[in-house]
This record gives sequence, structure tokens and C-alpha cells, in this order.
Amino acid sequence: MKGKEDIKRKESFEIGIESSKYFHIRLDMHVHSQYSRDSVVPIDSIVQAWEQKRLYSIVCDHDTIEGSKRTCQRIRERSPETPEVLAEEITTADGELIGLFLNEEVPPGLGAEETVDIVHAQGGLVLVPHPFCRYRSRAIRREVLVRLLDRLDIIEGYNARNVTDEDNYPAIEFAESNGLPISVGSDAHIPMEIAKVWMEVPLFETPQDLLARMKGARVCFRRSSNAVHIFTKMVKMMRKHVT
Ligand SMILES: [Zn+2]
Repeated sequence: MKGKEDIKRKESFEIGIESSKYFHIRLDMHVHSQYSRDSVVPIDSIVQAWEQKRLYSIVCDHDTIEGSKRTCQRIRERSPETPEVLAEEITTADGELIGLFLNEEVPPGLGAEETVDIVHAQGGLVLVPHPFCRYRSRAIRREVLVRLLDRLDIIEGYNARNVTDEDNYPAIEFAESNGLPISVGSDAHIPMEIAKVWMEVPLFETPQDLLARMKGARVCFRRSSNAVHIFTKMVKMMRKHVT
């Protein structure tokens, strides 16, 4: 027999997601798995969020697509209709960029322009994570963004790990004033950050499909506690000493 919690979950799933004529999913467009050097999120937790909440996490680990491959494979074994979105948060010489719908890993350390070329040559999309965040040394600089403007596909308008929402507003303004779609991302590095933010979109197949469906998406977001940054620092330190 099903427990009370299972029934509650099922009800909210049916009301929230299947009430529309399209089949919707909840998308978190920036999640790190255990394949990132500074994350401890097991792929099991990401798959569980899919099974329980229809939350599709786009895994974009630092400079590797391994976690993304494994996550997509596990989710698609359960739900073959879901698209494969291989992604990577790429460390460029000018700051971080996320490539979506990749076929192959993009090497780190190249200039932002060259990195964008490689992502687009694979048929992928370029998403700018946490632009204008004042507390991250690897956020891309405004002058680089302006230089790349007509080649960017998505701006992360809400990053749940930004220390203050004051750092999210300029990203939203920048996207709006330049007619670019806005994404939301938990930037999860710890399992408790999963499902902090999502946008509800009809199921998509291609990159262009996704861009079209992001317009007018219903969005849910909550900022993570600043304590998550202390935890991440600890993980980095511990891994440094172990390896
Ligand atoms: Zn990230």
C-alpha cells in the first residue's frame, strides 16, 4: 500500500504538471554532480528528483561531461521521451560559460570566443552562468559579455547560490534589454540544493525547441543559504588533501 507521502506527491505531480495539454517538465538548468571537483551530489539524488518531482536537472559539471552523460542515460532509461542534454560548465580564459546539447567535451582554458565557436559547431547552445556576480572570480566579465553579445543564447537570470539577489537583478536586466532568454539554476553542489529552483516548460526535443519553450515558462526560485559556500570550500580542501 502506498504511504501518505507518496499519495501527496502523486497529487501535486498531477495537478502541477499534467494539467496542461502539453507534457511539461521542471527544468533546473545548472546542477553539479559528483563528477565536479567541488560537488558531492550523487547521480542517484538527481534521478530520484526526476522520479518524484519530474525535475529534470541539466548536469553541467566543471570541465567534464561525464556526469551529464551518466545522468541523461539513467533518466532516459526510465523516461525515453526526455531529451539528451549533455552539458558542461567550461572554464574559459575569460571566465565560465555553459555549453548545452554537446556531443563532445569542450576543453578548458581557451578564450571565450573560441569556446563559443566550439559549442556552436556541435549544434549546442551557450548559456552564461551567474554573470555580474561580484563574489565569484570566475564569472565572465561584462566587457567579454558585450563582445560576445550576438553569439550568446541564454543568460542565467537567477542563480540560487548568488550570495545576494542584488547580483541576480543585473543579469535579468541584461537579458531583457538584449532580448535573450533567461534561465534559472540551483548551481547545486550538495543534495539539499536540488529542487531549489526550476522552470516549467513543455517537453522539448531540439535546442531551438528549448529556446522557444523557455518563453513565458512558469518559474519557481529560492535562494540557497549562504552556508552552502562554507560546505563547498570544505569539500574542495578535503579532495585536495586526499588526491
Ligand atoms: Zn556551476
